[in-house]
Amino acid sequence: DVTIGILALQGAFAEHQVMFQKVSSKKKAVIVLVRTEEDLGKCDALVIPGGESTTIALLARLAGLLGPLRDFLKKKPVWGTCAGAILLSQAIEGAKKGGQELLGGISVTTARNGWGSQVESFEASLEVEGLREANRPFHGIFIRAPVVLQLHPSATDPPIEVISRISSSLLPASVGPLDEDDTDPRDPRTIVALRQGSHLLTTFHPELTKDNRFHEYFITECVLPSVCNK
Ligand code: GLN
Repeated sequence: DVTIGILALQGAFAEHQVMFQKVSSKKKAVIVLVRTEEDLGKCDALVIPGGESTTIALLARLAGLLGPLRDFLKKKPVWGTCAGAILLSQAIEGAKKGGQELLGGISVTTARNGWGSQVESFEASLEVEGLREANRPFHGIFIRAPVVLQLHPSATDPPIEVISRISSSLLPASVGPLDEDDTDPRDPRTIVALRQGSHLLTTFHPELTKDNRFHEYFITECVLPSVCNK
């Protein structure tokens, strides 16, 4: 069995737990809520839920978890959804020195609340590469979601694999208006789900749907291969 931890300091951890419980009997995964270094020590992989990234970082600091989480990321698969995706970013735009603390782990720069205030929340039907029943779109729920601004893997980092994008017509003006002919399908700002090595990043909330294909994907595509390689 593999043990999957869910960082349970703040945010949508209970929703992730419910989703994993639905898939774990089939996939033989044990789910642990992580609040201490000792909890983290039991885990083969970790999920950082949506919520408020500044609060999660602050609580992680108070729990003495920042260092252990950064070490964990170097060795084991981690999936960040929304606020979790911000924490997994190597950098965020506009962060002041001494401001928001990040864990890093994925070589991207993101912007918090990147969709601006008018469109703080929206839903979009997504095509995702590699999900089971690939023809059935995934319902993406975006709540004050981050926007991916840049990918910058170094030569020694695992490559970044984009697994889902939204249409550039959905991009908000606040991330920089698109030029009239700026419809580059590779614009990083259209990326809403990506992988780097065994890490997974989604800017939306699969845990707020009834569709557990992302949770299944994390176990089969990220966690099991990494455990088997050991
Ligand atoms: N805007 C939040 C943050 O900056 C993320 C929102 C979410 O997780 N739904 O942390």
